[in-house]
Amino acid sequence: MTMTDVASPVLDELAAVLTAAQIVTGPRTESNRRDQSEGTLSGEPLAVVFPASTEEVAAVVTIAAAHRIPIVPQGARTGLAGGANAIAGAIVLSTTRLKKILSVDAANQTATVQAGVRTIALARAAEAVNLFYPPDPGSWRASTIGGNVATNAGGMLCVKYGVTGNFVRQLTVVLADGSIVKTGQRTIKGVAGYNLTALLVGSEGTLGIITEITVGLLPAPASPSGVSATFSTATDALAAANTIVAGSRRPSVLEFLDGACIEAINAFDPASALPRGAGALLLVQSDQIGQAHDDVEAYADVLRAAGADDVVIAHDAESLDRLMSARRLLHPAVQAVRGGCLNEDITVPRSQLPALLAGLAEISRELDVPISTGGHIGDGNLHPVIGYDPAAPAELEAAHVAFARVIGLAISLDGSASGEHGIGVLKRAHLDDELGPVLRDLQLRVKAAFDPLGILNPGKKL
Ligand SMILES: Cc1cc2nc3c(=O)[nH]c(=O)nc-3n(C[C@H](O)[C@H](O)[C@H](O)COP(=O)(O)OP(=O)(O)OC[C@H]3O[C@@H](n4cnc5c(N)ncnc54)[C@H](O)[C@@H]3O)c2cc1C
Repeated sequence: MTMTDVASPVLDELAAVLTAAQIVTGPRTESNRRDQSEGTLSGEPLAVVFPASTEEVAAVVTIAAAHRIPIVPQGARTGLAGGANAIAGAIVLSTTRLKKILSVDAANQTATVQAGVRTIALARAAEAVNLFYPPDPGSWRASTIGGNVATNAGGMLCVKYGVTGNFVRQLTVVLADGSIVKTGQRTIKGVAGYNLTALLVGSEGTLGIITEITVGLLPAPASPSGVSATFSTATDALAAANTIVAGSRRPSVLEFLDGACIEAINAFDPASALPRGAGALLLVQSDQIGQAHDDVEAYADVLRAAGADDVVIAHDAESLDRLMSARRLLHPAVQAVRGGCLNEDITVPRSQLPALLAGLAEISRELDVPISTGGHIGDGNLHPVIGYDPAAPAELEAAHVAFARVIGLAISLDGSASGEHGIGVLKRAHLDDELGPVLRDLQLRVKAAFDPLGILNPGKKL
């Protein structure tokens, strides 16, 4: 049987459940073939479909199951692990038309949204009733809540509030046979059956297609105050960060940039004017009601006592934004240094951070590759960026060797290959090292229970 033999009945069946505007084929699928990961492969899908309801998603999955065609769920394609990359011959299911905010329930402090709602839209809807949805991936203006749930996305506020999964209460999910289920409860508590909601969080589209999400919300915090401080060495900055997390005050942000990141950001945007020659920089914020100002003054004292050279405090929104803007430039700035880069997302117990930084320096020296490291130091989740010149194949090869060694280093320090970006296709090769054969097998059996035909985002995550 040829591809056309298979394709045309499938396309006919899709056309019976969706409008022509909801089905894209051929070269026009180009813009839906990849997420934002570097160095991952993708193929030409049979079609990209844009269902607008849970029932339409279920109809598409039923057709895919009948023909055993892989389905790749796709949110905003801001992913950094290739999870949303199209597979050749697959149906790519975009959630971008599932964009209704279904309810914001102030009395129960919950919100229910369709999966394609952008993170920022949910956050703004909560704000409108003086509530707070904290998960704030750097991509929040574009990323979808469905994508955030499927990757268990983090962000800068995790050090205080935790990751997306900490806020998910209930999911509407289309299973691999097209049936529609609701997992979890809308309530704060609920232990009926196994916690399938937690299993679906971070499952990267391999266990089911999430169409609706109910999240818990918090009371709105105070307007944050912040402080930045530079240190002559990364070791001094780490020691200061440890003192802050060990204290009784709870920072809402605790971020780190090493000397190479500082240099790259200054070169990329001289207006950033970060202190030249600094070995590291910390950014700390508090949003504690009635206390943010005092917290930040206390953090500034801790930073000075730990040997900070240059301490800048911001108590108003405008100066705080100036303080944070350099951190937001991290990725474009380090990418500009060499033209190409591989982005890591490793995580280790906080006590292992000194060993991690020492190990990164050793890998960089031994392989002669530039590694710039910044990220969520308060979570032990760092984003070392390995630079290479795209025109120099030997540099790309060395960058890949370094990439694998960095993951091995994190795992050897009781950490993980990915803290928040996911495994996708990028890090599958390293999963055995982290899980070991027994757990890997158990996970494959869980996958088979959810998806016996293996049609949900095959070749991703596991
Ligand atoms: C500039 C930038 C900054 C970023 N900052 C952060 C950060 O701070 N923290 C962080 O964690 N990540 C960050 N990311 C990574 C990325 O934004 C997150 O992984 C995000 O959660 C992906 O959402 P998305 O809607 O783009 O999903 P996609 O990239 O489209 O998909 C991601 C995965 O989820 C699956 N999926 C998507 N929707 C569904 C659904 N409805 N049901 C089932 N599976 C689904 C896909 O198959 C894929 O495996 C950043 C990315 C960029 C480009």
